[in-house]
Amino acid sequence: MKRRILILHTGGTIGMEATPGGLKPMAGFGPLLKRRLGETASAAPLPDCDVVELDRLIDSANLQPAQWPVIAGELVRRWEAYDGFVVLHGTDTMAWTASALSFMLRGLDKPVILTGAQIPLTAPRSDALENLEMALILAAQHPIREVSICFGRKLLRGNRSRKIATDRFDAFDSPNYPPIAEAGIKIALHRELLLAAEAKAFFLPEHFEPEAVAVLTIHPGLSSPVVEVALSSSHLRGVVLRSYGVGNVPEADARLLAALGGAVARGVTVINTTQCVFGAVAQDTYATGTALARIGVVSGGDMTLEAAFAKLHVLIAERLGPEEIRARMVQPLCGEITTTA
Ligand code: ASP
Repeated sequence: MKRRILILHTGGTIGMEATPGGLKPMAGFGPLLKRRLGETASAAPLPDCDVVELDRLIDSANLQPAQWPVIAGELVRRWEAYDGFVVLHGTDTMAWTASALSFMLRGLDKPVILTGAQIPLTAPRSDALENLEMALILAAQHPIREVSICFGRKLLRGNRSRKIATDRFDAFDSPNYPPIAEAGIKIALHRELLLAAEAKAFFLPEHFEPEAVAVLTIHPGLSSPVVEVALSSSHLRGVVLRSYGVGNVPEADARLLAALGGAVARGVTVINTTQCVFGAVAQDTYATGTALARIGVVSGGDMTLEAAFAKLHVLIAERLGPEEIRARMVQPLCGEITTTA
């Protein structure tokens, strides 16, 4: 039987058109896409597709955590009716949404593949159809029980992905995890890299508190009074620290450490990720890292910023206590972190 895939269009360059004010989501993209897919379907083995558009299409630079459960909800409402799901999304925050979806749709039994384009479908030299066709073929033919990103001839684990290039067609990479599939003349799926099947445990919060999670990037000259202000919000429950190298911060700045330690003592989970593209945090390597462990900062291992941020948001929305959140942040929930044990 021919597989049936739902394409959910959320916005992004793939469906944009030029306006005097720059590229913007175009009206009527859904029907246009159906027509274009119909034309190619005769030549390529594409599954049957329905296209659904969000009421408000956005440039994904405008995306807020509040939109994550909206996107997930559109998929979950139609879960039983389709064999797989392809989400068209802007590239700017695609890795953030893919990460969030992976934590909300834990134990999913069907593929959810995000894709988009660097050049709109309707413009010359667009990469839209190539990305979309690969996503559709993978969504229809393979038992990929995870949220992934299909872009530039690669399929990447969603919560390991990052946007790495502004203008290259292979705009995404998953620096700490190999591509799940790669396309040459044939599409090679690396089954051994896929998540194992798990019991379905979907969790779609009604509300993400936007101020619950903050990102703090360490840099030379970072002002500890500024950090104190940033950490003072009563809504704050989690911080993703972006430290140097294997997890180092200027530990000579006692006021900075006191601000971080004070936040941890108030029940804020501070998770340490590296600014480096490749590799993991190892907080016990230098004195500048052990100082963080002493005040209760948790190592984020090789998690991406996007995954750590989305994971914190979802665990906080689950209303778990700080101890529980800390414990879960260092354990893989859906392949987002490498454990050494
Ligand atoms: N600003 C666009 C977006 O993220 C970029 C893109 O889709 O490539 O929606």
